[in-house]
Amino acid sequence: MDKLIISDLDLQNKTVLMRVDFNVPLKESGAIANDNRIQAALPTIKYAMEHQAKLVLFSHLGRVKTEADKQKLSLRSVAERLATLLDHEILFVPETRGAELEKTVKYMQPGEIALVENTRFEDLDGKKESGNNVELGQYWASLGDIFVNDAFGTAHRKHASNVGIATAMKTAGKPVAAGFLMEKEIKFLSSTVEHPQRPFVAILGGAKVSDKIKVIQNLVQKADKVLIGGGMAYTFLAAKGRKIGQSLFEEETLPVAENLLQKYADKLVLPIDVIVTDEITSTANSHVVEGDIADNEMGVDIGPKTIALFEDNLSDAQTVVWNGPMGVFEVDQFAKGTLAIGKYVGESKATSIVGGGDSTAAIQKLGLADEITHISTGGGASLKFLEGSELPGITVIDNK
Ligand code: AMP
Repeated sequence: MDKLIISDLDLQNKTVLMRVDFNVPLKESGAIANDNRIQAALPTIKYAMEHQAKLVLFSHLGRVKTEADKQKLSLRSVAERLATLLDHEILFVPETRGAELEKTVKYMQPGEIALVENTRFEDLDGKKESGNNVELGQYWASLGDIFVNDAFGTAHRKHASNVGIATAMKTAGKPVAAGFLMEKEIKFLSSTVEHPQRPFVAILGGAKVSDKIKVIQNLVQKADKVLIGGGMAYTFLAAKGRKIGQSLFEEETLPVAENLLQKYADKLVLPIDVIVTDEITSTANSHVVEGDIADNEMGVDIGPKTIALFEDNLSDAQTVVWNGPMGVFEVDQFAKGTLAIGKYVGESKATSIVGGGDSTAAIQKLGLADEITHISTGGGASLKFLEGSELPGITVIDNK
């Protein structure tokens, strides 16, 4: 995918509308819990600033359902954090449309940055943002000369602030480009997965098979091996006729699992031993089981033989894609499988990509972030990518 990138355009003196993902986690008090997403957008913002753009930033924050939500979900504190991180003034516009927004944009100087209030405030009026209201997209697009989408985290959604603005810009003959974060995500999730160096091994885990069936179906065709761990492995083990006790199980997905096992017997690798317990606590008793699991117990991690089996399958991998933990990693005693596989992947020479769901949290909790080549910033969006689905927020970016 050869998409137009912000660095392909002359930004000097232009009003650049940029969709970023400032949907930061908030504490109970409303304070920012961590600013990773703001940090991730800085390279593109700095580039626009240094190239003398008049930069207008748009983002959503949380879900706005009532008037009362507006207080908690204002982007004002994000504007303050951004100002600190950049050591540069941010013009915060406390509305999503109207005279103040228009005046601010009109009188901006090259190198200045404005941040528009939470785009989802528009959802109180007939879901205009989330429903991709055409008039709203056109209105925002009318404020600028160039649109840059750097919000990978929302690229799987069709909203007015990404697809709406982009569509209106294109109709008006104005360019739509990707920011650097978006460029990086496309490079790893698309180019690397579509044209992998082989052997290409996918590691899939996590809780719900039904959420990830499409990912398995897509990756099993592209990868040389698919290692299945985590809670989702038990539906596959049940499909092989094993007793799984109280382990996670999705009956409705059983036929799909059976079908995949039949069709891709040579590619799918399942656990040969697991750690079982009768309760998920840090002090619970646990032991290793090969074969059937007792009625009152559940599998919560992969066992030592499975770790060795998975490592063996990863030993000559050139490309590894990983989605979902191998066990209940939140509890230390059941995090060993995830930790061992994470370390092994990190230390290997493979290009490693982690994305979707809780995988990023697991990698960060276990201190493995520096070992991985690319950790995707978008949970839902990267999952869609791995499913092989089209992401509307990327489709609307101009090709070179
Ligand atoms: P996901 O968001 O689908 O990647 O799922 C992540 C969640 O799966 C984490 O909260 C893990 O605790 C959970 N998980 C992983 N393995 C198991 C398991 N064997 N049994 C129950 N939950 C699991």
